[in-house]
Amino acid sequence: MSHFDTLIVGGGAAGLLCAITAGRRGKRVLVVEHANRCGKKILMSGGGRCNFTNIHATPANYLSANPHFCKSALARYTPYHFIEMVERHGIAYHEKELGQLFCDDSSKQIVKMLLDECSAASVRVETSCSIERVSHGESDEDRFRLHTTRGSFSAPSLVVASGGLSIPSMGATGFGYELARQFGHAVLPTRAGLVPLTLSGKHQEPFADLSGVALPVTARCNGTSFSNYFLITHRGISGPSILQISSFWQPGDDLRLDLLPGRDALEALQQWQRDRPAAELKTVLGDVLPKRFAQRLCEHWLPNRPMKQFNGPQLREIAQVIGDFALVASGTEGYRTAEVTLGGVDADELSSSTMQSKRMPGLYFIGEVVDVTGWLGGYNFQWAWASGNAAGNAV
Ligand SMILES: Cc1cc2nc3c(=O)[nH]c(=O)nc-3n(C[C@H](O)[C@H](O)[C@H](O)COP(=O)(O)OP(=O)(O)OC[C@H]3O[C@@H](n4cnc5c(N)ncnc54)[C@H](O)[C@@H]3O)c2cc1C
Repeated sequence: MSHFDTLIVGGGAAGLLCAITAGRRGKRVLVVEHANRCGKKILMSGGGRCNFTNIHATPANYLSANPHFCKSALARYTPYHFIEMVERHGIAYHEKELGQLFCDDSSKQIVKMLLDECSAASVRVETSCSIERVSHGESDEDRFRLHTTRGSFSAPSLVVASGGLSIPSMGATGFGYELARQFGHAVLPTRAGLVPLTLSGKHQEPFADLSGVALPVTARCNGTSFSNYFLITHRGISGPSILQISSFWQPGDDLRLDLLPGRDALEALQQWQRDRPAAELKTVLGDVLPKRFAQRLCEHWLPNRPMKQFNGPQLREIAQVIGDFALVASGTEGYRTAEVTLGGVDADELSSSTMQSKRMPGLYFIGEVVDVTGWLGGYNFQWAWASGNAAGNAV
């Protein structure tokens, strides 16, 4: 049995940041990662360039049954703390849009940076290491024992950083949730977030041959809205606006798109009627929307006539369809493609300043396994870094 000060389950974003923070404090840290390498999600993130933070991150960008929980950790580890490390390692980055910071070159640089920092802090990292059993020792010093395929390890503290359920092919497991339950913690229902939505039957047919068509929209659901691109896929709908709104949507919920975001649809139609009275609706719409999409709108949802032939109430009806287009989604593409898992370990049973369990001294939960989920755009990594830092300073 090898002894450590802290055992960390999961060598992803949160686990590695926690290990660095604790290691720098002189703690003897072991990271146990069951995949053959650490940080696989970091590697695949941001299209291979890792959107590693968002400079505008605030608690308002996170979903949780306890919206106050993330405040303390986020305030004590801001995007600028992580940026400082990125700059110290000479990693070039840029802001893409909306405060989202990406590597200029590759997300491999972020994983290398984290592992280099782990080495500098004398953190031991065991990959391809599967946990067979977690047990309790007799004294506080070996309160937690991990029995793994690479030996048994004990420590007074155990940090669960095993992530959520999304992308099982990358090593995602329900391990953290099971362990939480084993120690008497409530786990709030989990579901896929930041995920494409599916359409089916008569709701999919009009879009069937439009796969690949993209346009800017404002997507609205349950009182929340996101303005960004909307993309039609083979199975349904995606693009940043839909990924964002998917975290707020559940089957049966009303989902609406404003197809002319930032414009008053009725005023636009009246203007087109004055300027181009002989042009058909599909032609004028085809100048502001992708042509195939405008044509499909006029085949399925809108009457197609020369603009001068519409009266006031008809223009209002058309404006209503364009500004408040109803989509009936049948479901999500699920964990196979979801970027995150909503729900998880109930934040009410954790200390918001240290991430320590209120039920079991020495037990910590950080990152995505906790019921804190960020919007699309670097917010989820920022939570992983911030919660990892909070626990790393406390273990
Ligand atoms: C395709 C994709 C792209 C993304 N892009 C971005 C982005 O650009 N920006 C952003 O902010 N967020 C992004 N995310 C979300 C982000 O990756 C996660 O929110 C973040 O990685 C969560 O960090 P974590 O450490 O909690 O979990 P993870 O990074 O998932 O790490 C958990 C680790 O635990 C390991 N593990 C699991 N079970 C066990 C076990 N039983 N024993 C040992 N090890 C175990 C896993 O193999 C994994 O290495 C993306 C997600 C996906 C899927």
